[in-house]
Amino acid sequence: MIVLKFGGTSVRDGEWINKALEITKNQLQKEPVLIASAMGKTTDKLQELAHYAENGKIKEAENIIQTLKDSHFAVASGFLSGNNLSTCLSEQELLFKKIKSIAKGLSLLRECSPRSNDTILSFGELFSTIIITHRAREIGIHTTFADSREFIKTDDQFTKAQLLEDLTNKLIQEKIKPEKGKLTVAQGFIASTVDGVTTTLGRGGSDYSASIIGAALHADEIQVWTDVNGIMSTDPGIIPKAATVPVISYKEAAELAYFGARVIHPSTIQPAISLGIPVLVKNTGNPGAEGTHIISTPESPSIPADTPKAIAFKKGITVINITSYRMFLAYGFLRMIFEIFEKYKTSVDIISTSEVSVSMTIDNTTHLNSIEEQLKNIGNVHIKDNMSIICLVGQGLWKNSIIISKVFKNLGSIPVRMISLGASDTNLSFVVPNEQAENTVKILHKTFFE
Ligand code: ASP
Repeated sequence: MIVLKFGGTSVRDGEWINKALEITKNQLQKEPVLIASAMGKTTDKLQELAHYAENGKIKEAENIIQTLKDSHFAVASGFLSGNNLSTCLSEQELLFKKIKSIAKGLSLLRECSPRSNDTILSFGELFSTIIITHRAREIGIHTTFADSREFIKTDDQFTKAQLLEDLTNKLIQEKIKPEKGKLTVAQGFIASTVDGVTTTLGRGGSDYSASIIGAALHADEIQVWTDVNGIMSTDPGIIPKAATVPVISYKEAAELAYFGARVIHPSTIQPAISLGIPVLVKNTGNPGAEGTHIISTPESPSIPADTPKAIAFKKGITVINITSYRMFLAYGFLRMIFEIFEKYKTSVDIISTSEVSVSMTIDNTTHLNSIEEQLKNIGNVHIKDNMSIICLVGQGLWKNSIIISKVFKNLGSIPVRMISLGASDTNLSFVVPNEQAENTVKILHKTFFE
């Protein structure tokens, strides 16, 4: 069986729901389960509505409910007819009545606990999947609607609930029966406690839902349908020639996520990857494009080791350098430094050390002044802001000195600091001045990808 997950942009209106269902219809023989997000920006709107209700602004909350109702009804009426249309509208009507009375209650009490917040947000995925189910039936697909809250079970940490894995796997296997030629539609993002109270898996949690369901049913593949062609070799805003990376390992994708590759958050696909289930990222608007396969092991023949897969960068980094001659042959020095960062909850990204100095990069400078003051008790502190981290991602890069020599030979006179290679066996990172970041990426892209 396969799981197809369609994000909010992929089901933003009737036209896109049709595209999503066309893609699904072509794969009915693979026993598909379709997981959908809320349509477009619905979850943001619901969050706004919860804030209004909490502040007693019932008129504003009701306006949002009306806008959401109008847009969802318009989509349904645009492509449904007869029984499908009337059932869809009456099922939605019921939900809109419910959300209206919840909003009224919250605005009277002027509270919106995390628990109530989850209930409000859960409506987005319910609205979208009801419409998708009826549209699928309208175009002749035999479709079963499933409520994810009946099988995805969590603890009660509302807004970021933690999965109860064993129970969830058992229930999914009991309740979802994929079949050739038939479709099951269920919601991403939403779940419930053992007692049946609605929870959510955290914003953007639909990928996680797809991965949980795919893992429980031992899917052959999980397809994440989004609005880009997959993971790119670098930011196309800087390098128009950037190309889609056809195959990438899970570890490599995880490195890219730190640099803001928004396509997929690796932790959300971990349940599938840990079972060796491949995840394919594809573009709903361009289904013919190859997309990116994320796979668990880089050793597979389809993914050449020792070659860079992508170049990522992060601007606006601050480098902190501490030099202390007392450090020579001393121990406990790094601990003293890191205790200061821990105290100010500031994470350090790259570090490089010599016997008498330590360089570190941070991107959150909220507590920089206090950190600097305290570091001065340890040694001489030198801070340089407006720097960028450049990161060449590719598992096993360190095994091939020719690649490393190409990087530095081609960078010529660009000043490079803090080279870090092989710490994770997945990247080569270094720091350059902000104004050299784009140029550095251009040179590296030309060297390895053009
Ligand atoms: N609809 C939810 C959100 O916008 C979950 C998701 O789309 O993944 O965060």
